[in-house]
Amino acid sequence: MYSTLQYMNCQYYIGKIHILITTKTANNRDIVRIPTRIKIATGTYIFQSNRSAFNKNKVSPTCKLCNMSPEILSHFLLTCESLETDRKRLMEIIVDRDSELLATSCFEEEVDLVQLIDNPFYYTIDKRHRNRNLSIAGQLEGVCRKLLNNLHMKRYELLIKQQKCDKKNNLS
Ligand SMILES: [Zn+2]
Repeated sequence: MYSTLQYMNCQYYIGKIHILITTKTANNRDIVRIPTRIKIATGTYIFQSNRSAFNKNKVSPTCKLCNMSPEILSHFLLTCESLETDRKRLMEIIVDRDSELLATSCFEEEVDLVQLIDNPFYYTIDKRHRNRNLSIAGQLEGVCRKLLNNLHMKRYELLIKQQKCDKKNNLS
């Protein structure tokens, strides 16, 4: 039923605010990042692939930024070349911190980067190093929020530019 919530399946208790929605600071720059973070984590951020599915495939699922492959979450987060400059530095930090987290966690499976960015707290259910892991996940979450916000802003900017171009071309 709630397939879009697949990445949030742990650390969610009814009646409690999900840890992803909390913020330690009253810093505006952090607070404005929450909506994008929540949309991504709840699967309600609309990608081209969603648009295509809603429109019975009359709309192409192909990413409008790079025209290379379907625009789905993993493409947006990890592989879209048009977003690479806005992704590179923060992604390096994420991969770095992430290996620290996994070194003390019980997860033997390979790290799913999409899962990690979607919800860093997913990898903190190992009770043995819980406090340490929660602290790393908290730091990771700050970086992930920044990353999601950067990617979202860049995507938005590129799409607006494209729309303007399309309009001009249609007029001439
Ligand atoms: Zn793309």
